[in-house]
Amino acid sequence: MKLPLLEDLGDVRGKTVLVRTDFNVPMSGGDDARSISDDFRIRAALPTITWLTERGAKVVCASHLGRPKGQPTPKYSMAPVRARLAELAPGVGLLENLRFSPGEEANDEATVAELVQGVDMYVNDAFGAAHRAHASIVGPPRTLPSAAGRLIQREVEVVDRLRSTPKRPFVAVLGGAKVSDKLGVIDALVAMCDQLLIGGGMCFTFLAAQGHPVGDSICERDQIDRCRGLLEKHKSIMLPEDIIGVDADGVYTTFGRRLPDGAKGMDIGPGTAAAFSDAIMDARSVFWNGPMGVFEDARFAKGTRTVAQAMADTKAFTVVGGGDSAAALAQFGLDDDVDHVSTGGGASLEFLEFGDLPGLKALREAPNAR
Ligand code: ADP
Ligand code: MG
Repeated sequence: MKLPLLEDLGDVRGKTVLVRTDFNVPMSGGDDARSISDDFRIRAALPTITWLTERGAKVVCASHLGRPKGQPTPKYSMAPVRARLAELAPGVGLLENLRFSPGEEANDEATVAELVQGVDMYVNDAFGAAHRAHASIVGPPRTLPSAAGRLIQREVEVVDRLRSTPKRPFVAVLGGAKVSDKLGVIDALVAMCDQLLIGGGMCFTFLAAQGHPVGDSICERDQIDRCRGLLEKHKSIMLPEDIIGVDADGVYTTFGRRLPDGAKGMDIGPGTAAAFSDAIMDARSVFWNGPMGVFEDARFAKGTRTVAQAMADTKAFTVVGGGDSAAALAQFGLDDDVDHVSTGGGASLEFLEFGDLPGLKALREAPNAR
């Protein structure tokens, strides 16, 4: 995909550049004493910001924070983010929370006009919001010379590579809680990859589709037919062969795929984890989304840890998407050992599925890119 990049903005000296960032940082503390618990999203935007400031541009950032639903709310004030940004990038401005205005999510003209007032150029580096057709994402590129920042540039390169020229075998690993959240991605991935490994809560709907009893595991009955159809059509789908479950007596491991009444599947078993790990080690490209079990509880984190370790150890090109998967990887201290961790959960899955996003399309249609 050919996006306008920072280099395509022309001379930025003396220009005011609006940078749409994703500063939706985790916060802690009471409603009126909020502080940032992790500033990684602010630091992640620095390559783009400093590229501009080093060349003499005046940079003003704009982001959303939380879900204030169009209402100015002190809890979601940008003040703590502004203070941290001032330390990391002195002289760079930051507008108030974009979602304090209902026009942001509604993408209304007046909100766009206000955003571009006094601005010469626009840069989007908020990959995590690029799947939303909101005012700050699709509005400014209609009139301003525009570019993708470094974060978006990298996300697009990685997913383009997986979609168009993946080194094979290309293995995809999917987990997480619900099948219904990810049907689109499953359809897209199964068509692209050589093997699709399914764990996490979603595996139980597939196992039920094969006729296995799943006990009290999370299972979406209304998706069983759909899953059965996928299994019949795609022999490349691999399901768990053992499961770690919990019942009234405690935690145990099954020797097969059957979970009796009263038992709940919480993680893939050790046999499955080893098989998934082997497939990842033998692959040349791997995409992983969704934990293999309820990894937040140490008793059910082994499957996710084994997959994460294989992602770190394999020679394959490795990409991780999804908020909880990225959190799991970081929890195991393995986030530096994969090739790419996507900064946008929902956005990375939608981009993989559709090969495009509203925010990317808007950049391609900007006056300097046409
Ligand atoms: P991501 O954010 O990486 O896309 P999801 O949000 O789809 O991942 O799924 C993460 C959640 O899935 C975690 O909170 C985890 O506890 C849950 N999960 C994984 N396996 C199971 C299971 N067997 N039963 C219930 N929930 C599960
Ligand atoms: Mg999640």
